[in-house]
Amino acid sequence: MSANQSIYKKYNLKTVINTSGRMTILGVSTPREDVVEAVNFGLNHYFEVKDLINKTGRYIADLLGVEDAVVVSCASAGIAQSVAAVIVKDNLYRLENLHAHSHDVPSEIVVPKGHNVNFGAPVGTMVQLGGGTLREAGYANECSPAQLAAAITPKTAAILYIKSHHCVQKSMLDVAQAAEVAKTYQLPLIVDAAAEEDLQSYYQAGADLVIYSGAKAIEGPTSGLVIGRKQYVEWVKLQSNGIGRAMKVGKEGILGLTQAITSYMTLEKENGQQMVDKMSAFIDNLNSLKGIQAKVVWDSAGRDIARTEISFDHAALGITTQEIVDRLKNGDPAIYFRGYKANEGKIEVDVRSVNAEQLHIVYECIKALFN
Ligand SMILES: *Cc1c(COP(=O)(O)O)cnc(C)c1O
Repeated sequence: MSANQSIYKKYNLKTVINTSGRMTILGVSTPREDVVEAVNFGLNHYFEVKDLINKTGRYIADLLGVEDAVVVSCASAGIAQSVAAVIVKDNLYRLENLHAHSHDVPSEIVVPKGHNVNFGAPVGTMVQLGGGTLREAGYANECSPAQLAAAITPKTAAILYIKSHHCVQKSMLDVAQAAEVAKTYQLPLIVDAAAEEDLQSYYQAGADLVIYSGAKAIEGPTSGLVIGRKQYVEWVKLQSNGIGRAMKVGKEGILGLTQAITSYMTLEKENGQQMVDKMSAFIDNLNSLKGIQAKVVWDSAGRDIARTEISFDHAALGITTQEIVDRLKNGDPAIYFRGYKANEGKIEVDVRSVNAEQLHIVYECIKALFN
């Protein structure tokens, strides 16, 4: 029995087939061997940690062509510390008394209403952790540059833009337009790009701070990355003596993420067409089943990710999509799909975390439901 199988046995854990994508509830991703080695090296050595933070940040910044960077414990921590950074700046009293009482400085964070999402925890909770309050701009279905600007007051500390598939996509201003508004009002623009694949374009579009989740697209250990203009990144780093201490990142996370970013920027990634090739037999098999239709769909947020969309004919199958999702989740192995559209009779299969054999198991498990 291999070491990891014995872990499943030892703690009586269910094995999982993850076709839902980079999901925190399933452990996000499984980093490459070079990342595991960097984590291992970190665990086994001592460092001057401030030096480690500064120099890995410098290395990452040079790699990405940005002014500065810092590794944090996760993207949520990155949001909270970025908000705290723009409120506290380098004021020691505010740093040490962030939540003790209100401060005589701007602390409102303007966010397009359609970006006020729940990614597993609410964006607003991270803003509050950072000492800010959320102020929504525009409407649930639209936010123009003028609507964003209209929400700015003398109390505004920053604009927050969430670049994510969780957000409303239609009639939304883009990052460059948000940056234009920020510049006009001399405010910093913070972009939460936690699950995004492009580590450069939002900075290049004019964001002052951009936040990424370390284990999602980058496939690093549990960690986060904040990149941006030097002064703002400095202020984020200062938060390690404030709220940042409650979200401390370890040396292993710092070294693991730095290695993961290096690989991410230099190695060829699986592209959308390769994902299509991986799932073509799976799609053909599913289409041979009565009451089930499968096809390729592309990521709604515009990333180069192809997925299988499966539609279930409730009347023909005599079972709802939600029941199908629940039964497969409760099976052994537990199979997790993207279930955002289960109420429309559709689920999506994300193939980034599985191989063709596992896809075949998924097909067999779906087929078995109706035999
Ligand atoms: C995943 C996600 C986060 C949180 O990232 P963590 O690294 O898990 O804290 C924040 N914002 C968005 C849009 C996300 O998708």
